[in-house]
Amino acid sequence: MYQKNEIIELNITSLTSDGDGVGRAGEMVFFVPNTTVGDMIRAKVLKVKKNVGFARVEEIVTPSPDRIDPDCPVSFSCGGCVYRHISYEAECRAKRQKVTDAVTRIGKLDGSLVKDIIPSEKIENYRNKAMIPVGLNRDGEVVMGYYARHSHHIMHCLRCQLSPSVFNDIIEDVYSFLRHRPALVYTPQNRRGIRHIYLRYAETTGDVMFCIVAGSRHFDGEEVLYNSLKEKYPSIKSIILNVNAEDTNVILGKHSYTVYGDDQIADTLCGLRFEIAPEAFYQINRSQAERLYSKAKEYAQLSGKETLIDLYCGAGTIGLSMSDKCKRLIGVEIIPEAIENAKRNAAQNGVQNARFICGDAPQAAEQLRKEGIRPDVIVVDPPRKGLTPELIGTIVQMSPQRVVYVSCDPATLARDLKLFTKQDYSVKEITPVDMFPRTSHVESVCLMSRENPHQ
Ligand code: SAH
Repeated sequence: MYQKNEIIELNITSLTSDGDGVGRAGEMVFFVPNTTVGDMIRAKVLKVKKNVGFARVEEIVTPSPDRIDPDCPVSFSCGGCVYRHISYEAECRAKRQKVTDAVTRIGKLDGSLVKDIIPSEKIENYRNKAMIPVGLNRDGEVVMGYYARHSHHIMHCLRCQLSPSVFNDIIEDVYSFLRHRPALVYTPQNRRGIRHIYLRYAETTGDVMFCIVAGSRHFDGEEVLYNSLKEKYPSIKSIILNVNAEDTNVILGKHSYTVYGDDQIADTLCGLRFEIAPEAFYQINRSQAERLYSKAKEYAQLSGKETLIDLYCGAGTIGLSMSDKCKRLIGVEIIPEAIENAKRNAAQNGVQNARFICGDAPQAAEQLRKEGIRPDVIVVDPPRKGLTPELIGTIVQMSPQRVVYVSCDPATLARDLKLFTKQDYSVKEITPVDMFPRTSHVESVCLMSRENPHQ
């Protein structure tokens, strides 16, 4: 039995889905963050349970050939990146493996269904959105940056390599403004101050949306901050104040006030122009979203005659990018602002065959089924928790020829695929897409077909 603080030697032979190294010592399996396949290490035991243990690397005795020098000072403590210490090629391999592991272990499917990963064109500065928490440390000093791994502890860090430099410059300026004004920072006691800086960037135009999330509608010195940002950054086309005084981890509150400029930001994706409200979801890696959508479109195999349903449609992006190839499009989304965007986006791009419904996807799908809608293709793009068994049942009853499942969590994708394969559908292929280089997250797009096609 191993003891806490004992030093052990481990060969790292695989990675967990979170990107931690896994090594065996006798009967025990140890998890060691910041290591990778092929590392031989000395590690300190931190915690031992029955068959598993957790350890911290003390010394890398023989480095893996995949290793590179991490080029970020906070890479090991920050909760954002987990793959800064390995080559991008090794990262893509690990991500494809993560999808294959989920599909075989949870989905009980053949691993050869998983095709090559589509790597990201950009592996730095690819994020078009940043949510920067603002808080006070134990000494009452202002801290801004990113959450530490597995915690809500703010790690003070103003520049992130995943963000465009304009975000980092703006964040530095906001910090300069706040560092001598700790009273302006939100605390659970004051419930008034600034909690988050939320930035969005439209890559095709360079436009920036600057949003402050605060506990109250106004804060001291707001004009000074807004004017200096407007003056220094002509690319800021919109300043929004969002009020959130609730004691919650949800970042945005219910009310947004446009302080300056536009209410939303507009970007171009797949040749279409999309307006996106602060509350609406938008893919954070634009060029990679185009590749994801184009794979989804290929899988949809549209000829122009089809009825297409796009569930969890956000601002309508996936469905609208396919609307030129189908007869009619129906999108469903729960956030009202996103559905307003979807409707306007359809109109502004001259799309006339689209209808958008604001509602809960399982309920709205059941309603559409009762109305007698018989889609040929259904695209789903749910949040991490995936689909409900009820929604899968409704989709099966609507019996589309093809289901295209876009997923940001291989585990829930695999769970849901297993249910589909028990009910008339077979999985044709799954393509992992790397939307989030350097993090442990991986997107996948999967094609399923109905086994007994209609005549
Ligand atoms: N397909 C879009 C959005 C995907 S993100 C795109 O590519 O941009 C998932 C979306 O599901 C979010 O817009 C979220 O608001 C929405 N959503 C979450 N729960 C939902 C539910 N129960 N019913 C409908 N939409 C939901």
